[in-house]
Amino acid sequence: MREDPEPAQNISGGADGGGHPATFDPATAETRTEAVVDRLGELYWQKSYGGQDAFTCLVRTILSQNTSDVASQPAHDALLERYAPDGSLSGGDQAGDRPGTGATDLAEALAAADRETLAETISSAGLYNQKSRMLIDAAAWVCEAFGSAAAFDAFVAEEAPATVRETLLEVRGVGPKTADCVLLFAGGRDGVFPVDTHVHRIARRLGVAPKAADHEGVREALERDVPPEKCGFGHTAMIQFGREYCTARRPACLEDPDACPMGDYCEQVGVYPATGDVVDPADAPD
Ligand code: SF4
Repeated sequence: MREDPEPAQNISGGADGGGHPATFDPATAETRTEAVVDRLGELYWQKSYGGQDAFTCLVRTILSQNTSDVASQPAHDALLERYAPDGSLSGGDQAGDRPGTGATDLAEALAAADRETLAETISSAGLYNQKSRMLIDAAAWVCEAFGSAAAFDAFVAEEAPATVRETLLEVRGVGPKTADCVLLFAGGRDGVFPVDTHVHRIARRLGVAPKAADHEGVREALERDVPPEKCGFGHTAMIQFGREYCTARRPACLEDPDACPMGDYCEQVGVYPATGDVVDPADAPD
C-alpha cells in the first residue's frame, strides 16, 4: 500500500502537469546539490515554470495546506466552479459577473463570499472552516491592496521577488512555502526552491542541507547551491522522488541498497539499512 496518498504524478510535473519543458546541461554541475537536481531532472523532467494566475495559485496553495493533492484538487475545482463559473481565473475583462455576487474578478467574488457556503464548497480539503477564513481574508487583502486579482498577478510577475515574498508573508495563512509557490508557479521566478515536507526530509537525508535545519534553513541551502534556473524543477521532481523512493517511513534503500537512483550521492542521514531504523535527520547522531 502506498504510504503517501498522492496522485502517481506530481500535480506540477510530468507531461500533463504545469510548466514548460526545458533542457539544462547536466555535465556542468558545480555542487553535489546541483548534481542531485540534475539526476532528478534525468529521472523525471526538466521544466521551467510561471504563467499561472497568481491569485488562483495562492488559492490552490492555501487549499493544499496540511492535506494531499487528492483531497485539495476537488476543493479547488469546486471553488472555481462556484466562484468562477465561466472557467476564467481572474481579470475583470474576461470573467463576467459571478451569479449572486456582482463580482467580475475571482478575488472580488471570494472577498464577498458567504463564509459557510465557501467552507462547504471546499470541504474535501479538510480544515475547511479555517481555510475559508484564510481565503476570504486573502481575497479581501488582494482587493484592498491591489484592486483586483489581475493587478495582483501583475505585481507578482513584475516586482522584485524579495518584495513579493515579504508582502505575501504579511497575509494571514500565508507561510514561506505558499509565498514561494506563488513566486515560482505564477511569477516564474528563477532561484526560488519551495520547501515542503518531502523536500525538507530528502535534502537533510542526502546531506545537502544541515540535518537540524528548519524549512527556511533547507531553502537557503538549496537556493545557495542550485543554479537559479534549476530550482523550479528541483522542487517538483524532488517531491515526486519523495513519493516514489525516499518516503518518510520506508525509504527504498532500506530494502535494497541498490534500489535508490540517488544512492551514490546520499549520506543516508537518519536512515539505517543495517537495522531497518529511520529517524528524523535532526535526531541522528553527529
Ligand atoms: S539512499 Fe535512501 S535515504 Fe538516500 S535518497 Fe535514496 S532512499 Fe533516500
